[in-house]
Amino acid sequence: MIIGAGYTGLSAARKLGQLYPNQKIILVDSQLAGEGASSRNSGYLVDTTLNDGFTSNKELDNYKKKTDIYDLGINSVKKFINEHQVDCDWNECGKYFASSKIEDEKILINFSNTLSKLNFKHNLLSHNELSKTLGTNFYNLALHTKGGVLLHPGKLVRAMIDMLPKNVYLYENSSLLNWNKTKDIISCEFKNGKIKAKKIIFAANGFLKSLGIKSSYNFPITLTASMTRPLSNDEFKSIGQPKEWGVLPVRPMGATIRMTKDKRILIRNTAEVHNPFKMSESNLQKRSINQIIGIKKRFPQLPDDIIQSSWSGVVSRTRNSSQIFEKIDNNVFAAGCYNGSGIGVGTLFGEQIAIKASEENSKEIETIEARNKPTWLPPQPFLNLGVKSRLIYERLRARSEI
Ligand SMILES: Cc1cc2nc3c(=O)[nH]c(=O)nc-3n(C[C@H](O)[C@H](O)[C@H](O)COP(=O)(O)OP(=O)(O)OC[C@H]3O[C@@H](n4cnc5c(N)ncnc54)[C@H](O)[C@@H]3O)c2cc1C
Repeated sequence: MIIGAGYTGLSAARKLGQLYPNQKIILVDSQLAGEGASSRNSGYLVDTTLNDGFTSNKELDNYKKKTDIYDLGINSVKKFINEHQVDCDWNECGKYFASSKIEDEKILINFSNTLSKLNFKHNLLSHNELSKTLGTNFYNLALHTKGGVLLHPGKLVRAMIDMLPKNVYLYENSSLLNWNKTKDIISCEFKNGKIKAKKIIFAANGFLKSLGIKSSYNFPITLTASMTRPLSNDEFKSIGQPKEWGVLPVRPMGATIRMTKDKRILIRNTAEVHNPFKMSESNLQKRSINQIIGIKKRFPQLPDDIIQSSWSGVVSRTRNSSQIFEKIDNNVFAAGCYNGSGIGVGTLFGEQIAIKASEENSKEIETIEARNKPTWLPPQPFLNLGVKSRLIYERLRARSEI
């Protein structure tokens, strides 16, 4: 049985369905499949994430281990979309790490040195080049990485649901409330019934902690994002008719912002400790105001009421940004905690945790298991205090970049 039907759970179910065509695989989600972070994200399938330079070979080695996992993640998604001919607006246009602050040049130069050492193709761009390519005068400098893909996250997860093998039984709107393991049987209690299973994979990502999985190693963070309606032809001309692009912030709490294939602007500029189960309409509305401010900073000519939709989503974090991929007990497995790289790494970890749960091995598992393991977190209330103060500090550092 698998708990959670996002990229991780769906990929685990797909793999198990293929490996055991004569067995019944149960996949359960508390909401509709794919309606968690897997359809609410910004659609960056990343090859690299920003690390602002390294002082030792050991740190460079750790960064390489991380990017080796990203590379396997990209390949897993590529293989899935090629095999099933999935249209998910796949665009290998790379991504920008951009800033309006000239003083961030040092960070980008250090990052560029790291990327050069590992042979990642990239280039540094100035204000003028950026205003032509992005259609905004906001950014003063950026580093463009050639690798990395932009895609439509909802189309990808929809395809993973549609392509589930026939022996996978999907139960939606079924929240796991409690579970326990006695001898070799895992008993799971849902609102409307119980299921007993021989093996279980937890793929609930931001909700792993609430299920008591590796709870001293991960914590949920809530993000909010907004998307505009498609720009009109005149609006699109007014910003120079740019091609599709994606910008990630140099300062962690700055805005992630995309110009989509269908001429919409997508922006995510909040990350906070919040009740992961619910965000009220009024709280969402407050955060959406931050998003229109972010859009107007970059595109002052666009109208104030251009946002069409806003949403929140929950991700899972660990202290050292490492992922969870583990057998936590006999017949009990868990995978999750990808921060901003869950499209590729979630797909990879889902497939590979299924192989691990079958007591098999693979080259991919060896690469995954060579990563740094998540480090221990302090208990509450110290955890929340620590995370909140860190977020306040990062928010202040990035206040010009929202
Ligand atoms: C706004 C936003 C932007 C992001 N941008 C990016 C990006 O650009 N690139 C990127 O790679 N990643 C990004 N991410 C992160 C990415 O979306 C996640 O890492 C990825 O979706 C994780 O997939 P998953 O299947 O592990 O988890 P999820 O998609 O969260 O799926 C977990 C599932 O478990 C279910 N569940 C939880 N509790 C229970 C329970 N008790 N019983 C049954 N089911 C349960 C949930 O309903 C959910 O469907 C972003 C996330 C957000 C929110």
